[in-house]
Amino acid sequence: MPSDKGSENVKVVVRCRPLNEKEKQTGFKEIVKVEQVQGRVTVSTPNSSAGEPPKVFTFDTVFGPDAKQVDIYNQTARPIVDSVLEGYNGTIFAYGQTGTGKTFTMEGVRTVPELCGIIPNSFAHIFGHIAKAEEDKKFLVRVSYLEIYNEEVRDLLNKDQNVRLEVKERPDVGVYVRDLSAYVVNNADDMDRIMTMGNKNRVVGATNMNAVSSRSHAIFTAILECSEKGLDGEQHLVMGKLHLVDLAGSERQSKTGATGQRLKEATKINLSLSTLGNVISALVDGKSTHVPYRNSKLTRLLQDSLGGNSKTVMCANIGPADYNYDESISTLRYANRAK
Ligand code: ADP
Ligand code: MG
Repeated sequence: MPSDKGSENVKVVVRCRPLNEKEKQTGFKEIVKVEQVQGRVTVSTPNSSAGEPPKVFTFDTVFGPDAKQVDIYNQTARPIVDSVLEGYNGTIFAYGQTGTGKTFTMEGVRTVPELCGIIPNSFAHIFGHIAKAEEDKKFLVRVSYLEIYNEEVRDLLNKDQNVRLEVKERPDVGVYVRDLSAYVVNNADDMDRIMTMGNKNRVVGATNMNAVSSRSHAIFTAILECSEKGLDGEQHLVMGKLHLVDLAGSERQSKTGATGQRLKEATKINLSLSTLGNVISALVDGKSTHVPYRNSKLTRLLQDSLGGNSKTVMCANIGPADYNYDESISTLRYANRAK
């Protein structure tokens, strides 16, 4: 059973992707060293002739360029999905600069079994669990898929991508998104179809708004309900929620010389990512009396799945190349603060 102590329920891991072909051909150098056993990430300065020493960070778990998707799943997501199956809430985030592997980590390549990311692996795990469960247990799995862009919420499973949804709160149900669609899924194929539909809408929405999807947060949510007869002979309902979050790119927009609408949007992305960092560090600290959930839509929506009895994993993704030095250091600092 997850404990109440924040730090035990929040885990931060780092994943460094391999150098890609283009980076190799261009001659970019690999400056990140990942030592899995020691949980250590070492980043050398791109211009080592300047004499600057490498920067060293340590985490509970780190994954290097050779890490397999299934290892990431087993060591980060599996314990969370197990606790969601027991009726707790859980959240998994992918954080990092655009191009470092957030979507690869969360979704992966769904058509290739060994490249499947956390989302398809979670559903395989959930449906595997259901298939093995005792006869008298009845399960209901529903999924929603939404996007937060510019502090506005859109339902990725709604055909009309111009509709903005409202975040509401009620004493009995807590924080929720009004009119958000939820689809019942019975197997991995259902999940796959829904994800494909949502991803198409994500692109459509981004085009309508003249934006790119790397600037929005995508939240794929599964609500698991299990009803079974208790020892008292009554039916009992257990509910757990799993949020799988592909965050907006963490790259500093100020550097891109954005102005007007783009700058406004950049400020909001930075706000929600920094609020998330503040929320997680307040939870890990455990002594903070104020957790600033309300400062962004993202944290407000996830409020009941962060902290308390909920389990959270943040996967911070980085690239291995020298030209990513500044962003990689900034991601590692963010992750370090959250652990
Ligand atoms: P992000 O979502 O952070 O912008 P992506 O997940 O789209 O980044 O990854 C960028 C590219 O790098 C994609 O082509 C992806 O397949 C590839 N990639 C990312 N991580 C890995 C990895 N660990 N191994 C192999 N390829 C990867
Ligand atoms: Mg992506």
